[in-house]
This record gives sequence, structure tokens and C-alpha cells, in this order.
Amino acid sequence: MAALLQDLQQRLQDPTIDYQTILLCIALGVGAFESYIGHRQKPFLSPLLHPTLPSTLKPFLPSPDSEQTYRKSQAYSKDKLAYASFIGRIDLLESFLLLSSITAPVFVALGLGSAVQSAFPWFGAGGEKGNWTLLKGFWDLAGGFPGATTELRQSLAFVALMTLLGTVLSLPKEYYKNFVLEEKHGFNKTTRATFIADQIKGLVLSLALEIPIIAGILKIIDWVGAAGMLRIVAWIMAFILAFQLIMIPAYPYLIAPLFNTFTPLPEDSPVFPLVKSLAQKLNFPLGRIWVMDGSKRSSHSNAFFFGLPGMTKHIVIYDTLLEKSTPEEVEAILAHELGHYAYAHVLVLLLTSLLQTAFSLSTFTLFLSNASLLASFGFSPSRLSSGGPTIISLLLAASLFSPMSSVLQFLTNGVTRKLEYQADEFAVKLGESYAKNLKGALASIHEKNLALTGTDWIYSAYHNNHPTLIERLDALDGALADGKGKEGKKDL
Ligand SMILES: [Zn+2]
Repeated sequence: MAALLQDLQQRLQDPTIDYQTILLCIALGVGAFESYIGHRQKPFLSPLLHPTLPSTLKPFLPSPDSEQTYRKSQAYSKDKLAYASFIGRIDLLESFLLLSSITAPVFVALGLGSAVQSAFPWFGAGGEKGNWTLLKGFWDLAGGFPGATTELRQSLAFVALMTLLGTVLSLPKEYYKNFVLEEKHGFNKTTRATFIADQIKGLVLSLALEIPIIAGILKIIDWVGAAGMLRIVAWIMAFILAFQLIMIPAYPYLIAPLFNTFTPLPEDSPVFPLVKSLAQKLNFPLGRIWVMDGSKRSSHSNAFFFGLPGMTKHIVIYDTLLEKSTPEEVEAILAHELGHYAYAHVLVLLLTSLLQTAFSLSTFTLFLSNASLLASFGFSPSRLSSGGPTIISLLLAASLFSPMSSVLQFLTNGVTRKLEYQADEFAVKLGESYAKNLKGALASIHEKNLALTGTDWIYSAYHNNHPTLIERLDALDGALADGKGKEGKKDL
């Protein structure tokens, strides 16, 4: 196995492989695929082609206003789809600017070459065989930062630079999404002050998490050596697992409170005794019940629980869910959440993400110290290491494998959707009243979130990690028809 991988690693270093063209074609291919599935979804959002509420939903949304809400859902989804397609094109353009060699000639042709170069001496300088890329420019720029004297330090400076740049480039996109798109459909509750604070906190947090992770990964690769592919994967996996095990308990205490306020659910709330007795009935190790101010940003609603496997768990309910649903509906939603607990879905998800990481890492390591790949993007064997910068190899390998990531996205969505169905079925097994309340709660949440449209199945499999409302209601009816809702059934 190891010998086979090493042979493949050698073959991929063939200098005649034009990696730049391959990578740009892949980026175009993934972009085209995403446009295609977006196109498949369009008819479902047209009031001419799908004029009335899907028949599965009708029994749950009997009010005459529902047809109007359905049309509002179509308009909202249509705007979101148009936005996603526009952003997809902008992202593709950004990739081309970063990775193609036409950026510098384009600036020269526009008569801006010398102006840019006098302001930024790294622009267009030192490209191998005239294939200078902006990626190479940013790498050189990071090398000029104070203290960037080793490859590791230059890599960390580069990661910080790219993160900062990414945040700046995403600002107009995020602003539009919140203050134009969501605002237009009545969901935005974010003030401009919260928005700016979120962006700053998000940036600081990304840097604080990314830099130690990247440093750890680069250290491991450097320590094992690029040839020891399987050992690199094993050590990085162990490192990431350790990091995740720290983050699972740390997240609700250190990170979530940066963005939201958590207050204990008042004991006189009608929801309180329902949740307490449900937890007791199911032997759920309930710690505290928190209410989160989700309404600070958006009127979309949710509930979840957190806590390490084998330890006390805490339940979080969005204030928006409490406002919009009856206490029995909130209880049914929590029955679904406790289904996730009963079936140990946190562990399933952790394992899925580890498998996914292992697979991606194994493919990335094939490209470590690949001089041919690096030369395609204007990198010569650097002054710091003979193979060229590892971080750039990893980044380019990740882009080469983006079609693989799309396939993985189908698979992981398949897993999470399966878990949702299982959790819904768990609630059904608690009794028919839970099934009825869960159906009602799901319908009313989706109605308020304007998510009542039909969905193309490929579009849904690619973009949705939860089944759609129609799929869930159908599955719930199926489970009830199978007799899983008989009140008092013991085999939970
Ligand atoms: Zn769920």
C-alpha cells in the first residue's frame, strides 16, 4: 500500500502535467455543476409552474393565508437562489484572479501594471517561466512580514493574510445577504452594530483557531517527512480528534456566548415541566435548560442540546421557537432532539467527519512537495525548502480535489438526513400525540421560515443536510402507518 502510494506520488510529479489548466477547468466544472442543479430547482419556485401549496402540506396549513405564505416562500427561495448563483460567479472570478496567470498581464493591458507594481513590489515579480499568479504574490508578501523567517512562520503569516482578505471580500456579500435579501423578506433582525461586531469577532476567532491547527499540521508533516504519507494521515487525525474533543465542551462556554446571550428557562414557563418530565422519562442526563436570543439576528428558529458523550447534557431553545410554537410543539421538537441523543448521533457525526478528513488528507498527501504542481502556479523551489511551501501544496491539492468534495457533500448530507429521519421516528415511537405535535410544529416552523416550496431531489441532496418539510411529513406518516406510534410502546 505504502509503496503503491509512493509510486503514485512520484508519477504525479511529472513536469509535463499542466496543473494550472487542470485546476482552473475543475473550478469551472464545479461551478457549471452547481449552476446546473440551481437551474433544476428554478421551476419549483415559479408561481406559474407550481401555483398551489404541495398536497402533503395542505392538511397542516388549512388557513386561507397559507396559499399566500406559499407564494411568499417561492419568492424568498427564488431570491436566495439568484443570490447564491451570483455569489458562485464572484467566487469563481476570485479563484481565477488568484490562480490563473492572466492577472498580471490584464493589469498591464489596462495600463495599471506599473502603478500597481510601484505600490506593491511583489506584484508580478519572480514568477517561474512567466506563470506568476496572485497566489505566489501573496506568499511573497507574507514572507516580507516581520518575523516570517522560517517556512512555518511565513505559512502562518500567509494564512492570516488570506483569512483577512477572505473576510474583507465577504463583507459586501454578507451585508447584502442580511440587509437586502433577508430584510426584504422580513427575517433580518441584525443591527449594523451587531453585524460589524460579528464580523470582527468572527475574524479574531478564525485566526485564533486556524493558526494553531495549521501550525500543528505543518509541524507534523515536517516531522514525519513528505514520504511517510500514511503516518502523516494518522498523526494529523489524532491531532484533529484531540482538538475536536477539546472544542465540543469548550464551544458552548467559550465561543457561543461571544455571539449570543443564554438565560435559564424560567421554571414557571409552561415548557419547563414538559421538558423536565420528557427528559426523566427517557433517562436523558439533563443539566440546564437555556433560552438563546436567536431573535437578535434573525427570526428563524431552532433547538439543540450539547455536552460530551457520557456527561450531563444541556438543552438550548431559541427564543423564537418559544414565541412561535405551543408548549406541546416545543416538547415534540425536543423529543426529536432527544432522539439524536438516544441514538448517539453526536458520535456518528464525529466519526463521519473523521472519515471524511482521513479521506481528504490521504489524497492531499499525494501532492506534498510536488515541484511540478507548485511550478505551475509560479513557485520555484523556495529558499526555505527544496520541495516548495507545504501550505501551498495543501491548498492547491484541496482545490484539485474540489469535485471529490462535492461528492462527499452528497454522502455526508445523506448521513445527516438519515439521522433526522431516525430522530423523527424516535419521537413517533413515544406516541401518536408526539407525532401529531411534531408534524404541526415542523409545519408551523417551516411556514414561519417561508420554507414551503417543493424541491428538486438532486438540488436537495446537494444543498440540504436536513430533509425538506414534505419529505419529513411523508416519512412521519409512513412511520405512523407502520404502527410505530402506538401509545405506550416500550421498545424505544
Ligand atoms: Zn434533528
